[in-house]
Amino acid sequence: MIDRLNHPDYDRWAAQIKRSGGCRQPIHLRGKVEHYDQATGHLLHRYTTRTEPDGILRVPCKTRRATRCPACAETYRADTYQLVRTGLVGGKGVPETVSAHPCLFVTLTAPSFGAVHVRREKSGKVLPCHARRNAETCPHGQVMSCTRRHSAEDACLGEPLCPDCYDYEGSVLFNAISPELWRRFTEALRRRFAKLSGLTLKALREQAVISFAKVAEYQRRGIVHFHAVIRLDGPDGPTSPPPAWATAEALADAVQHAAAVVTADVKPLSRTFRWGEQLDVRRITMDGELTEQAVAAYIAKYATKAAECVGTLDRRIQPLDDLAALSIRDHARRLIAACMRLGSLDALADLRLIQWAHMLGFRGHFSTKSRRYSTTLGQLRAAREEHQRAEDITTGRLPLFDEDTVLVIAHWEYAGQGLSAGELLLAAAITGTQLPTAGSGAR
Ligand SMILES: [Zn+2]
Ligand SMILES: [Zn+2]
Ligand SMILES: [Zn+2]
Repeated sequence: MIDRLNHPDYDRWAAQIKRSGGCRQPIHLRGKVEHYDQATGHLLHRYTTRTEPDGILRVPCKTRRATRCPACAETYRADTYQLVRTGLVGGKGVPETVSAHPCLFVTLTAPSFGAVHVRREKSGKVLPCHARRNAETCPHGQVMSCTRRHSAEDACLGEPLCPDCYDYEGSVLFNAISPELWRRFTEALRRRFAKLSGLTLKALREQAVISFAKVAEYQRRGIVHFHAVIRLDGPDGPTSPPPAWATAEALADAVQHAAAVVTADVKPLSRTFRWGEQLDVRRITMDGELTEQAVAAYIAKYATKAAECVGTLDRRIQPLDDLAALSIRDHARRLIAACMRLGSLDALADLRLIQWAHMLGFRGHFSTKSRRYSTTLGQLRAAREEHQRAEDITTGRLPLFDEDTVLVIAHWEYAGQGLSAGELLLAAAITGTQLPTAGSGAR
């Protein structure tokens, strides 16, 4: 830290850090950018990292995972919020009239794979977890009842009453198959909505389009469930109003039906998976009980979380990792072990369960949306970079060129990643971000 502070190029280093927005594990790039006049071939401007501190440029890692880099995850969260919100109220190229389109907030859950400890509340009172009169005793001698009123922080929440009875294989297979189940759900929804409207699928497309934005969230038991915004548009997407007959009620009917009927098979094991019975379908309105703001914030909150909130690892499990030695909850360990066991079966190779064991079998995207929903993360990033470029031109760091007459040649190479322990402390002070915990640092 002292070395860095006393170094003659400290100011430039600090400027790089500031610009990377407090990224905890910036990517190091080595390279140059040259601007040539296309007509004369004259070099107009050259930027090279050779004169930068350590001969490198530090750029943000752009991870979405808060455990790895809080600053970049925050950017991702904010972008996801904007992306969901513009699909609800307009902005960033989406017209404001979109807020009048029928729109639902839907939560699709996983089925049960065995009784787990839960905290249930009813009108402000915490209920007993699993109160059963004449509760059965399982083959392992465990009485399948729990009368405790669990606190919200209780470590046993989400853990099975009897781990030996719990269907760990079913749990990780559901995670693995859930992206396919979601895809089938969206198809079934379109088909059902067309049928309710008395149209063929093709005829429906000419009058109305259904678009989605969804996030996956891990429940305490280690299974993903999905929260989705489902919106009805006219044939041209958010810019066109849906026909009057395409109502939120009809859409909700179609959602209920589609969620109940779709299945996805894991054929080699003769297992069929479907959504759980808990299905939540609510209307999103400007001023109702569920506002657009609330939905966007809710969805964005989950965009930066991964399986580590269940108590597993935020990295891939290596074949040589000793599962018993990992400092994780026993429930997570058993879920990971199920992934490793099933992943070694040739017939299930497609599910790539070993590679995704740290995600408890889920290999889907955390937030996805259909093409027509709103803007994209890429567009939001490009807008931010354009803003930065404009700032660089105003402050004289970059000369202003006419892009049509200038040839830009850039060459970049990866030169590492991360900050040293001392640099991390300085970076936190410069950018006003959280101090890192032990274990994060240069890699
Ligand atoms: Zn970062
Ligand atoms: Zn319990
Ligand atoms: Zn048992």
